[in-house]
Amino acid sequence: MLTRRRDKNHDLEHWTIRFGDIDVGHISLRAGVPRAAPQWGWACGFYPGTEPGQHRYGAAATFDDARAAFAQAWQRLAATRTEADYRAWRDSRDRTAWKYRMHDLHLPLPTQRPDGVARCFCGEVITSATMDNHVLGAHRGDVRWRSRP
Ligand SMILES: [Zn+2]
Repeated sequence: MLTRRRDKNHDLEHWTIRFGDIDVGHISLRAGVPRAAPQWGWACGFYPGTEPGQHRYGAAATFDDARAAFAQAWQRLAATRTEADYRAWRDSRDRTAWKYRMHDLHLPLPTQRPDGVARCFCGEVITSATMDNHVLGAHRGDVRWRSRP
């Protein structure tokens, strides 16, 4: 099931669309278009998990039209997705959120240390070889994900 959430980080009205916990696209007012042109735009797709060439975009006169077009595009895309595609997106989300958290706490990653050994914010000692398993195991989904400008 798709849900949508208003994202206040945009000047114009912007809705993030989710399938479960996956960000699968958005519907938003288009910036700088002539008054006679469709005012709403939508984009459907997620990465990783789908290739950029599989993403779909469109414009619509009203929010409801954009929502309907998005729903159709999503149905077609979702029919070709597997659980592995969604996992790829979640893994990427969790790795990125974890790296930002480490960065915010001024903690070095193993790759940034001459000996290749570092400490996670949870206290665990990690190396380049163990980092991925640690992040996706110990911190699966627990670091609040936020998009960055
Ligand atoms: Zn940790």
